[in-house]
Order: sequence, then structure tokens, then C-alpha cells
Amino acid sequence: MELMNEDYLKMYLYKNRLATYSGWPFDEGCACTSENMAQAGFIHTPTDNSPDVVQCFFCYKELEGWEPEDDPVKEHKSHSPNCHFILLKKAVEELTVEEFLKLQKERQKFHILKTCNQVIEKFEGSAKSRRGDITKMAMEG
Ligand SMILES: [Zn+2]
Repeated sequence: MELMNEDYLKMYLYKNRLATYSGWPFDEGCACTSENMAQAGFIHTPTDNSPDVVQCFFCYKELEGWEPEDDPVKEHKSHSPNCHFILLKKAVEELTVEEFLKLQKERQKFHILKTCNQVIEKFEGSAKSRRGDITKMAMEG
């Protein structure tokens, strides 16, 4: 699921992140409830094969294969140690405008990196299929 930039801005707010969780398999008594996941910056981005995929709205890190005792904040920090959101010392609502703009600048860097990686992947994919076509032609010809 690809969210528009504007939707990602909304995801700075806890309640909007929480609203993405439907059919989340971990409930009361688990460390990774939807509330704790949303608090840790994750939005729910399930696919047919992976119902528990989440993505950090800020650093775009995707994680799945959750266990009931997994601590979302700890997992986030260990899998994406450079995420500025998870390292924030205060709530987004308490940031000054200057602090927020600084944070948003860092998020743009993650976004650019992700977009570049997608373009590279796409290029490599089509290069691979072209190579396959050429090999096939050579063998036929
Ligand atoms: Zn993150």
C-alpha cells in the first residue's frame, strides 16, 4: 500500500496511525497491541500473505512476524536505529515549529532514499527480463 504524501503527514498523529489497524491479531495481554504499535510509529500495512506487516510512517521500515511479547518500541529501535521519530524525546504535539520542520526534513531524506531504492529495483527487474529475452533470442537464433 502506497500512501500519498499528505496522508503520511497525517500519520504524525497517533490516532491516525491507530486507525490503520483492523484485524490486528494481537490484543489484550500482548506487548504488541495495536495501541502500542501505533505509539511506536507503526501503521498497519497488511497484504494477503502477511496480515501483520507494519511500516514506520517516518523511516519506512517494514516489520512482520510479530510475537505477542515483542515490544514495538524496542523492535523499532533495533531494526531502524537511525529513525528520528522513535528517538524523539517528546510527543509530536509538543514540538516547536522549528523542531517539527527539522524532523520533517529528516523524514524527507528517508522518503528520497526509499524512492531511489524503488527506482533501482525497477531498473534491475527490467534489466533482468531484457537479459532473459536476449538469451532466449540467442538460443533460438
Ligand atoms: Zn521509524
